[in-house]
Amino acid sequence: MNMTYFDDMEAKIPRGKVRTRFAPSPTGYMHVGNLRTALYTWLIARNGGGTFILRIEDTDQGRLVEGATDVIYRTMAECGLTHDEGPDVGGPVAPYIQSERRDTYGKYARLLVERGHAYYCFCEKTESEEDSGEWDRAADPCRALSPKEAQARVDAGEPFVIRQRIPETGTTTFHDAIFGDITVDNSTLDDQVLLKRDGLPTYNFANVIDDHLMGITHVVRGSEYLSSAPKYNLLYEGFGWEVPTYVHCSPVMRDQHNKMSKRHGDPSYEDLKAQGYLTEAILNYVALLGWSPRGEQAEREVFSLKELAQVFDIAGISKSPAIFDIDKLTHFNALYLRAMTPEAFHAAAEPYIRQAVKSPALDSRAIAALLQARCERLTEIPEKVAFFETLPPYERGLFTNKKSKTNEEVSRRMLESAISAMEELGEWSQEGIHTCLTELAAKLEVKNATLMWPVRIAAAGQAVTPGGAVEICLILGRDECLRRLRIGLEMLNG
Ligand code: GLU
Repeated sequence: MNMTYFDDMEAKIPRGKVRTRFAPSPTGYMHVGNLRTALYTWLIARNGGGTFILRIEDTDQGRLVEGATDVIYRTMAECGLTHDEGPDVGGPVAPYIQSERRDTYGKYARLLVERGHAYYCFCEKTESEEDSGEWDRAADPCRALSPKEAQARVDAGEPFVIRQRIPETGTTTFHDAIFGDITVDNSTLDDQVLLKRDGLPTYNFANVIDDHLMGITHVVRGSEYLSSAPKYNLLYEGFGWEVPTYVHCSPVMRDQHNKMSKRHGDPSYEDLKAQGYLTEAILNYVALLGWSPRGEQAEREVFSLKELAQVFDIAGISKSPAIFDIDKLTHFNALYLRAMTPEAFHAAAEPYIRQAVKSPALDSRAIAALLQARCERLTEIPEKVAFFETLPPYERGLFTNKKSKTNEEVSRRMLESAISAMEELGEWSQEGIHTCLTELAAKLEVKNATLMWPVRIAAAGQAVTPGGAVEICLILGRDECLRRLRIGLEMLNG
């Protein structure tokens, strides 16, 4: 066999630095578990001053979804998980899309046959039988063919698959950074198909070839691949290649017994965004789903992506499955909303404010300022602020509040005085309205709350509001505020 091709491929592999890859299959959405894998993979690269690679694993052409790779690019960019090499940015070991690497896999499968760790198999089996791996190796006559016989049948044009030749006896041990050493009997491993009849690789084969040729030092992935790892090891050994560090992460669960699943209605990254969660809060929470900081940072919960890149270590990844808790995420989200600058919060909140508050006279910045400390998710906003746009219908009973010492009669008197005082008010400012109302309360010899309660109810038409009477009146503007106070007064006079 002419080795030039393989020597050239070896020569291209970058070495000497940490190289990790996120290798999603384009499914059309980003699972929370996948996002976590992407994040950990990125963090390991960044923490080690290494290179992060995006590889698209689209060998399963039957499962391809239109536009699905765009979802991957968009999510990665939105999350700040920037890649140094990938289909869109290129790199030294391009192409980074498996369907564009087709020719490579066939060549390596033949190389492995040559090295005695794989064989041509001509048995008549359907693709699904091949895929299921339920094939009894002892009964396989092809495994026993001499290389010469097999080659003659290939040359004669007989269709074939290439299978891995697993040793009949003995054990295989592999090491995982999280699960430690795992040993299995070779007799439990199947002679899996590496190259299918159509010349396309199986997922397990393409993965090993690509990880090697891309110089991947740390293979980070879900623990569902743990059971395939011994076969991967045997492939690396068969080629005479160094085995990368395996980092298998336990699943993200919806409860004690079930993995999170899109099919069962568990939210994907996109769903969480649509539910009003901030990307930064999602990332922070997801980072802690199965990893915890140690040492001085052990008690800490809030980390920016940059900070995570500094403190993240493989040793902090847990073996036990993590349970996704939406309330915990909501808690993180509220922390992040509160920690934003007023400008950043306004930018995030404005589209939600404008869903309910269309009138340009109503200042979205002032409304955002009321919301920032009072909202856990951005999607709560439209409902909270709709009263600014339209006074909702309300019952006069709202004017009665024991704590504020108001009832309908007291409220009627308060509104009457408030309307006259506010009509006279010079400057319609926070300061101006506040002074006007507190001075009025003093003059009337009532507590501030006794005056503020009916003013706020009449201005907002609801009992629970973001912000107090002064802020709400200010945002409404003098004319609309007075109009509403008069409506309240009329109701109480009626
Ligand atoms: N394409 C695989 C997946 O989306 C990735 C497995 C791996 O990272 O090796 O599950």
